[in-house]
Amino acid sequence: MVTKKKNCDIENCTQESKKTVSREKAGSALKEAGLDVAIREKKTKIHLCAEHYRKIKKKLKKDREIERLRWG
Ligand SMILES: [Zn+2]
Repeated sequence: MVTKKKNCDIENCTQESKKTVSREKAGSALKEAGLDVAIREKKTKIHLCAEHYRKIKKKLKKDREIERLRWG
């Protein structure tokens, strides 16, 4: 059986992906959140389900704030 829907790339997550983020951007946020990406290939994009996206979205924002502090 073939499904065309993409699944979340987080390990052990079987939910349908809703968002795509760049791996570079999401890398540290995922690590901080304690999430592992299941893909082994050198992909530049990661597919995330709504739940996981929400989790790292907060971290992405925090990263930006830290950067601003560093420069300010
Ligand atoms: Zn997920």
